[in-house]
Amino acid sequence: MIKFGNKARTACLVLVIAFSFLVVYYTIANVNVSVPTIGGVSDDFWIVIDAGHGGMDGGCSSADGVPEKGINLNILLNLRDLCRVFGYNVDVTRDSDVSIHDKGVKGIANQKRSDMDNRLAIFNRHSNALCLSVHQNKFTDPKYSGAQMFYSDNNPKNEGIARIMQQKFVEYLQPENTREIKLCGKELFLCYYCKNPTVMIECGFLSNPDEAAKLKTEEYQKQIAFTIFSGINEYLQQEMNSANTVS
Ligand SMILES: [Zn+2]
Repeated sequence: MIKFGNKARTACLVLVIAFSFLVVYYTIANVNVSVPTIGGVSDDFWIVIDAGHGGMDGGCSSADGVPEKGINLNILLNLRDLCRVFGYNVDVTRDSDVSIHDKGVKGIANQKRSDMDNRLAIFNRHSNALCLSVHQNKFTDPKYSGAQMFYSDNNPKNEGIARIMQQKFVEYLQPENTREIKLCGKELFLCYYCKNPTVMIECGFLSNPDEAAKLKTEEYQKQIAFTIFSGINEYLQQEMNSANTVS
């Protein structure tokens, strides 16, 4: 039997992950896209990903009772692995089905407050970061579908990032999506109080049966992860281009 050392095992894992994302990449409908390289991104730059809800808080659910928390987490894990394979520093608010409230906090409302405070602390942990909060949407009328980006105007870069992400979802996954990016206030706690550029990504509507069916599949979750990844790259490419123009 061949025994792999830790390094070989890690290398194999990286190759397997990279390959699986390449497969997803080539199965996405519109493949006429270029993914910029990350050369030029500074060593202290971090991508921080939040999977909304977790633990006792399932978030919204599909008609058949599948909560968004698991979908958000799967997208986060795929996006995290993809970003790491491509060399980015990545931080996450959670990597399992948990609320991240402080130990000893009693009562669901207090736990939720503590959980959100801790997520914000992770978003503000790095001084040079791009922060992404992944959620699923719902509405009383099941006819609505499609991704929509939410942002706060506390950071001048947020609107541009939201616009890029919205466009990536249209380009890669939802050509019929005509949703506008949406400016929000304090109710968008993480976006409003985060010091780094931040966008909240509502990937789709769990209240729409067709979209919910897709959102629940591993394949679509990977495609969403890749779509967000491409948005990250485009944002960074634009940042580098404008830095080069200025200097
Ligand atoms: Zn949510």
